[in-house]
Amino acid sequence: MGVQAFSPSSTHLETCRSCGSGRLAPVLDLGAQPLANALVDPEREQEPEALYPLKVVFCEACGLLQVDETVRADVLFNEDYPYYSSFIPALLAHSRDHALQLIEERRLAPEDLVVEVASNDGYLLRNFLEAGVPVLGVDPADGPVRAAIEAGVPTRKAFFGADVARQLRAEGKRPSVMIANNVLAHVDSINDFVEGFAILLADDGIAEFEFPYARDMVEQCAFDTIYHEHVFYYSLTALERLFGRHGLHLNDVTRLSIHGGSLRLRVSRSTGKTERLRALQAEEVALGMDGLGYYSDFGDRVRSLRDELRALIGGFCAAHKKVAAYGAAAKGATLLNFAQLPAGAISFVVDRNTHKVGKLLPGVHVPIRNVDELLSEKPDYCLILTWNFADEIVQQQRGYLEAGGVFLRAVPHPEVMQTGIFCGAGAAR
Ligand SMILES: [Zn+2]
Repeated sequence: MGVQAFSPSSTHLETCRSCGSGRLAPVLDLGAQPLANALVDPEREQEPEALYPLKVVFCEACGLLQVDETVRADVLFNEDYPYYSSFIPALLAHSRDHALQLIEERRLAPEDLVVEVASNDGYLLRNFLEAGVPVLGVDPADGPVRAAIEAGVPTRKAFFGADVARQLRAEGKRPSVMIANNVLAHVDSINDFVEGFAILLADDGIAEFEFPYARDMVEQCAFDTIYHEHVFYYSLTALERLFGRHGLHLNDVTRLSIHGGSLRLRVSRSTGKTERLRALQAEEVALGMDGLGYYSDFGDRVRSLRDELRALIGGFCAAHKKVAAYGAAAKGATLLNFAQLPAGAISFVVDRNTHKVGKLLPGVHVPIRNVDELLSEKPDYCLILTWNFADEIVQQQRGYLEAGGVFLRAVPHPEVMQTGIFCGAGAAR
């Protein structure tokens, strides 16, 4: 590992990004961490790696949980940004279902337009195109935008916000459906971003957003979903204030299991609310999610989880067992950099994304290898870092289980996983 230094490319947050209040109360401190998606080239292993404080604070004025360090967008989303959604089969199926549901419910036709923000490589929009519905993707990342265009999905390379929305509107674009999945939580200038929807959306249009739900993160102790790009951890309480500021209203919500617990939120210019939206808002009130008290023991639970993980992995190391990991995603980087396991405790991490193979996880510098190596190297244990896709991974890796391999997970608490008949005795909490 190279000599590490704090980088000048970030600024400390003084006021809430949503409402501007200075009443930001500390909730969790994960220490100095590298950018979770900044995979390291092996030949640059000795070079200094930038570290940034990773802390979460709660705005006592508007109820929004957020990271209190802002890393410059051009640093976060550079040309090496490794996230290609099409490498995640569960996500593809989920997106297809979402698209088909919208096409049917909104009776989308060739005269409609669907605009997706953070459209990545076009994996969601493809489903609308196949149904004859015109689309436009907007995404800031070079590689995925090129892949989308090559796949025939019209895509603009840009950071979406009020300016881009005005441009598109000037070109006559008024989408009847806008979609933004897993981006609402990642945009620092959140008021400009939401204003973009208010500007562009057709008068009777709807916008849908998917994002991890703060309540699921807290209840499942999923602190590894925290990283610098993931700026916000939303409740409906905080979102209603944010959208309301831009003349948009919450209409409906669905709880989703994807990414360890997400919400799909529908907003529009009309004020009607579904019964399930009212019910979930009432639950938030009952839980006290609008107050700091709800988050008060989160930090202690996270530190206990870390200590249990160190004990579990440390025990395997002491017994000379080989431990590998699955999933070189951001959450793996957060978990391992916070856990600070003994050097070499995790021999390697496998990933299906060929853009990642051959690089090193940031900070901890665990080498990323092809998934096949789980079978060829046969580590005694494999820690599933991308626990949100654990079922799918276990299904795919039956060969590893049959060869005697054992899966572990860290969230919601460190344990040997129950993996059905393929996992032998001793698989208990
Ligand atoms: Zn606020």
